[in-house]
Amino acid sequence: MSTAAHDPNAAKASNFLRQAIERDLDAGVYASRRFAGSPGDAQHHALAPIDPARIRTRFPPEPNGYLHVGHAKSVCLNFGLAADYGGVCHLRFDDTNPEKEEQEYVDAIIEMVHWLGWSWDAHGTRHLYYASNYFDFMYRAAEHLIEAGLAYVDEQSADEMRARRGDFNTPGVDSPFRGRSREANLARFREMRDGRHADGSMVLRAKIDMGSPNINLRDPTLYRVKRATHHNTGDRWCIYPMYTYAHPIEDALENITHSICTLEFEDQRPFYDWLLESLAAGGLLQRPLPRQIEFGRLNLTYVITSKRKLKQLVDERHVEGWDDPRLPTLAGMRRRGYTPASIRKMAEDTGASKTNIWVDYGVLDIALRDDLEGQAPRAMAVIDPLKLKLTNWTEVFGAAAAEPCQAPAHPHRPELGVRRFALGPEVWIERDDFAEAPPKGFFRLFPGNKVRLKYGVIIECTGCEKDGDGRVSAVLAQVVPDTRSGTPGADAVKVKGTITWVGAHDALAAEVRLYDRLFTEEQPDAGGRDFLSVLNPRSKVVVQALLEPSLAALPADGKVQFERHGYFVADRIDHRPDRPVFNRITGLKDSWTR
Ligand code: ATP
Ligand code: MG
Repeated sequence: MSTAAHDPNAAKASNFLRQAIERDLDAGVYASRRFAGSPGDAQHHALAPIDPARIRTRFPPEPNGYLHVGHAKSVCLNFGLAADYGGVCHLRFDDTNPEKEEQEYVDAIIEMVHWLGWSWDAHGTRHLYYASNYFDFMYRAAEHLIEAGLAYVDEQSADEMRARRGDFNTPGVDSPFRGRSREANLARFREMRDGRHADGSMVLRAKIDMGSPNINLRDPTLYRVKRATHHNTGDRWCIYPMYTYAHPIEDALENITHSICTLEFEDQRPFYDWLLESLAAGGLLQRPLPRQIEFGRLNLTYVITSKRKLKQLVDERHVEGWDDPRLPTLAGMRRRGYTPASIRKMAEDTGASKTNIWVDYGVLDIALRDDLEGQAPRAMAVIDPLKLKLTNWTEVFGAAAAEPCQAPAHPHRPELGVRRFALGPEVWIERDDFAEAPPKGFFRLFPGNKVRLKYGVIIECTGCEKDGDGRVSAVLAQVVPDTRSGTPGADAVKVKGTITWVGAHDALAAEVRLYDRLFTEEQPDAGGRDFLSVLNPRSKVVVQALLEPSLAALPADGKVQFERHGYFVADRIDHRPDRPVFNRITGLKDSWTR
């Protein structure tokens, strides 16, 4: 069984994918399928036991970039459906294109699918596959199509082929090479394989129907000549299969039952079925065959989910790498502090539909806050510090340099214990918690007003100090005696405001990176707009903040709620106990739909 950190009892909203799977399961469509424990052709599976997986799905990334939040949707859909219906989901690298693929991406993809909480281990097998391991079968299948009169070698130039393909309104025209004999085609195809022809000089095409209203059925290309070293098969091949030919075969060899893909492949479905039917009819593939089902892509407002455009942002240094916390790559989101549970929840809540959908980024943030609220310990932090001097300290506390204070680590989880810090004669407060001339409705510090220093004492503001430029450099206040939080006198004096603070003597200095949206427009690349023209110049602001001393013990990647400010994470790359670095994950309230 695929493992998922799902609550198995939670009712899931039905959708057309679930309905399709349930119909197939009720009808027993895939019940008699055999599985030999590894991918293979009809013969390989023929004598094997019945497949222990009730359904098989797959997530098939091309290892040419980092996964982004749109991929997470597909990951969660495929692994989630398999988990829910007693099936297995395969992780398959669709590495049939030799030019753009790299091991770095393979490793990063594996890491992120694991991070999301999914596993491809089931029935004692690691269902991790590489499409390039099927090149031998793909080649054999191509020879079979030629022998069956269903494929031919076309030596037209690319321009001639394009011209003869026709368009939406015009049927295509047969290639002059279309009528060649099977023997001549087979000989030519073998020459292609043996490196006897130049790159681009000829292709293998399916022989279907140049007059088909579906352009994808006008003799699509199956194989091309391309001298390129492949990351898995090296220089063994100089012909490579086209994606549209390779993908259905990959599904069939792996016994996939439901091949779930995005809408742009809808027009390819007739070819998918034509190809697999042709190969099954020839005895090469086991029946029943996989079926392709399309769903709408997930788009999130304020982000870009195109690998090409993300690469441009990285390559042109608009961001600081693939794991920049502003990017919607999973590596970036993890570094930003997003939790796997929140991403899975968003994927679940957005269901599956037959149209491409735009989801407000706020939906993800709501799921994130729900998850962090229950687990992140609390701490006080001052992000824009201003010194507060308690001028009657010695009268109230005598010679003591500091007065110990404590607070629960989490307001609703006493088992997480308490955090300790201390009040001293000087503390840091937020600059905007003081106003020399308070606006209406301002209940925090201004001369003559009393507030509580959270978990500490009540103080009364007496004035402020200014620097040479007239800017406030310190606030002055007096401690109101016998008002310590947690003592009988705490409620004797009523105040309207409570402010957060950290002691100047024990504050932990930290770099805090305040992240905001990377783009200023909801749909950065809508209508062909250059998305670089709507980059938010303030998407990253770095400040020196002062934190409660307990945070020195927080490990990298540890999450915390800074009271009043929002959720923050100790940066997984740069954070050190002696040089803390925190990223703002998100605020306490929705700031996306402002
Ligand atoms: P991109 O357009 O970013 O390059 P891709 O679809 O070309 O993405 P693949 O590696 O082929 O990248 O994607 C793997 C799987 O993820 C595919 O099945 C694809 O349909 C799915 N996928 C990619 N983007 C999204 C998205 N925004 N919403 C849902 N599924 C997606
Ligand atoms: Mg793709």
